[in-house]
Amino acid sequence: MATYDTNNIFAKILRGEIPCFKVYENDHVLAFLDIMPRAPGHTLVIPKAPARNLLDITEEDFVHVARATRLIARAAMPLFDADGMMIVQFSEPASGQEVYHLHMHVIPRFEGVALLPPATVKADMAVLAEQAAKLAAALKGA
Ligand code: 5GP
Repeated sequence: MATYDTNNIFAKILRGEIPCFKVYENDHVLAFLDIMPRAPGHTLVIPKAPARNLLDITEEDFVHVARATRLIARAAMPLFDADGMMIVQFSEPASGQEVYHLHMHVIPRFEGVALLPPATVKADMAVLAEQAAKLAAALKGA
């Protein structure tokens, strides 16, 4: 397996070199909206520690990611009026991973509505800003 590349796009977001629509942050994780969402509210949860994917992250770092993933899924479900939540993580190219800093996809699902294909439509920035503000408010103090 390749080693961690500090120039991946999520590492740049963590360093503040690239902006993001933040929904949650603590000492161990950052969560922000996917800019090409597969459904409204599609959120990415990443560790602050460098990890390429599930195959090299430490157990301790992954526990922090899992905790935040649960918090965000529970907050997003009512906020987006979703019928279910889908949690996905890809490890290595054969699985579909494209960005090599571990991330959990937290995706609201709606009965009878198919997911958009990955990385196709760049969302309206104003819509993302509004959704991020609502999610961040729901997660305040969590
Ligand atoms: P992967 O296939 O690696 O699990 O998914 C990478 C995800 O990152 C995709 O859903 C894609 O839309 C998202 N993404 C790619 N570049 C950016 C970016 O610059 N900002 C944000 N917020 N998401 C990104």
